[in-house]
Amino acid sequence: MQSAEQLMMEAGLRPTKARTAVLNALLNSHTALSQPEILSALQGVKEIDRVTVYRVLDWLQENALIHKISTDDRAWKYQLNSPKRSFKVASSAAPGLLSNHGHAHLHCQSCGTVLCIHELAAHIPQAIFDTYQVSHIEISLKGLCPDCQQNASVQTAAG
Ligand SMILES: [Zn+2]
Ligand SMILES: [Zn+2]
Repeated sequence: MQSAEQLMMEAGLRPTKARTAVLNALLNSHTALSQPEILSALQGVKEIDRVTVYRVLDWLQENALIHKISTDDRAWKYQLNSPKRSFKVASSAAPGLLSNHGHAHLHCQSCGTVLCIHELAAHIPQAIFDTYQVSHIEISLKGLCPDCQQNASVQTAAG
């Protein structure tokens, strides 16, 4: 597993303490995290406050290291981009659009967990990009995660 510093240096970016801390929080989580979740994970890190986290998240997005995912409660969640899987981008699509946002997300409707599913990529006809100016692609699968399914069946069994 690459460190946060390595990821930034390989992308030609300058790591700072705040950037490293935020990126590490995302590296250490297999689910997408909201800004408050990142902030609470970084409690005790001196350089970090709410504004810093927002600023660093924007910066990480601009530099294509992370992407954001919309959730039902209108909050954004953030997760790392997967450097290993880059999908071939249709020539007239915005650069990086499919590679960063063409994958699907699993949303648990009970606990709010969001997972990136890179195995499922969008196959969007070129005709769409010829006629529409597409700025964001998002595929959502909604339901219950394994933990919440288990909790639900325990509750049912308890009556
Ligand atoms: Zn769940
Ligand atoms: Zn994702």
